Amino acid sequence: MSRQIYVIAEPCIGVKDRSCVAVCPVDCIHGGEKDPQLYIDPNECIGCGLCESECPVDAIFLEDELPAKWKDFMGVNARFFETSPPGK
Ligand code: SF4
Repeated sequence: MSRQIYVIAEPCIGVKDRSCVAVCPVDCIHGGEKDPQLYIDPNECIGCGLCESECPVDAIFLEDELPAKWKDFMGVNARFFETSPPGK
């Protein structure tokens, strides 16, 4: 069975509340001041779901449950970590 991961979608853009960052047990949610939104590292997320319930704008979804209009955000999240290693 493949691992379920979470993805941050469009509602985060311009909000970046960061409540999710505070609860993530593996510190896999990143994004700096200049980034439009926050992103979940697909290689680090353990699928615990804690971030989903913390988000005040309902921007976080299980990969398989992303609304069709936001499917692109799987790639948006993953690409962030290809170009911006966490901590940079
Ligand atoms: Fe972090 Fe859990 Fe959310 Fe994955 S599902 S980003 S591990 S809080």
